[in-house]
Amino acid sequence: MKNINASPPEMYHSEIREKFRSFLDKNNLSKFCAEQKKLANFTTIKCGGKADFFFSPKKVSDLEKTFCFILQNNLPYKILGNGSNVLISDYPLKEIVISIKDIPRYLNIEGSFISISANCDINYLINRAKMQNLGGLSFLAGIPANIGGIIKMNAGAFNQNISTFIEIVEVITKNGRENIPAKEINFQYRNAEFPMKKFIIISAKLNLEKMDKEKINQNIIKHIAIRKEKQEFNKRTFGSVFRNGTDYYSAKLIEMCGLKGKSINGAQISTKHANFIINQNGASANDIYQLICLARNRVRHKFNIDLISEVEFWGDFENETYKDKDK
Ligand SMILES: Cc1cc2nc3c(=O)[nH]c(=O)nc-3n(C[C@H](O)[C@H](O)[C@H](O)COP(=O)(O)OP(=O)(O)OC[C@H]3O[C@@H](n4cnc5c(N)ncnc54)[C@H](O)[C@@H]3O)c2cc1C
Repeated sequence: MKNINASPPEMYHSEIREKFRSFLDKNNLSKFCAEQKKLANFTTIKCGGKADFFFSPKKVSDLEKTFCFILQNNLPYKILGNGSNVLISDYPLKEIVISIKDIPRYLNIEGSFISISANCDINYLINRAKMQNLGGLSFLAGIPANIGGIIKMNAGAFNQNISTFIEIVEVITKNGRENIPAKEINFQYRNAEFPMKKFIIISAKLNLEKMDKEKINQNIIKHIAIRKEKQEFNKRTFGSVFRNGTDYYSAKLIEMCGLKGKSINGAQISTKHANFIINQNGASANDIYQLICLARNRVRHKFNIDLISEVEFWGDFENETYKDKDK
């Protein structure tokens, strides 16, 4: 078995689990933590196994207390946004999965500034801002993601990134709640490096462009139309599988390997956009993983280029089991 994002095995001795359970009990937080929780429905690709612990509190103070405990005790964890950029293994996930979906959402507008909780949907932000004649974010319209994930991934499209609009990001760290000014965040292609390694984004302040709502509407319609035409829209996917390079488009390379439409069980490389994989028909995470390995191997073989995945792999995956007879 290949361990892509492995947690230190010693961390998952049963005494450590007991420690977390006893912390939850003592703090009356057990009701916010499910054990052996199925995760497929918390991802847009709709596959994957269970989490040992799925912690989804209703208050920021409970999130803060628990996250501090997790960090102090060096427990392994994962933070789940809308699950639109992750492939979760079919095997049980040993990390504590932290979700902020049940914390009250808010969005406040003051002039061109918008303060928004990290669990809000990006499309909700775009539409609420539009009503106040605030635009600029239509390049992200149609992405099924939350603000926290959008910021962490520095999501972008059509030569624009969210980082341009960020003023301040509020996070929970081992020291509690902190405001991080955008200038202290190193925004890169599909990543945002914060001054600290371990944090949960809980809100952000953005500065949008003043724009007529009719114009914003046109931009939204235009960008969604392009997505519908060129990509898989409203399907079970996680967007682009691989990053683009400075001098290549991953989709083009995969297409040139003849892989458009290629299936492994219920997983298929899109016939529309070769850098998208669709869960067509009850695919397992392993089916999708094997298809990703196949595309990477074929591209390496034909072009001597190592594709880098944009999607994150959570948990353990089988070694490459698919035998590629066409290579
Ligand atoms: C149809 C489709 C189209 C897409 N198009 C684009 C596109 O045009 N451009 C683009 O950039 N991406 C695109 N994506 C990929 C994806 O939507 C983005 O990467 C998005 O930013 C992920 O947000 P999420 O809330 O789903 O995060 P998740 O997938 O849940 O998590 C992604 C990462 O962010 C971290 N994270 C999530 N929330 C928090 C938080 N509150 N605090 C700290 N870390 C957090 C997670 O731990 C993980 O590392 C697309 C996906 C789909 C399904």
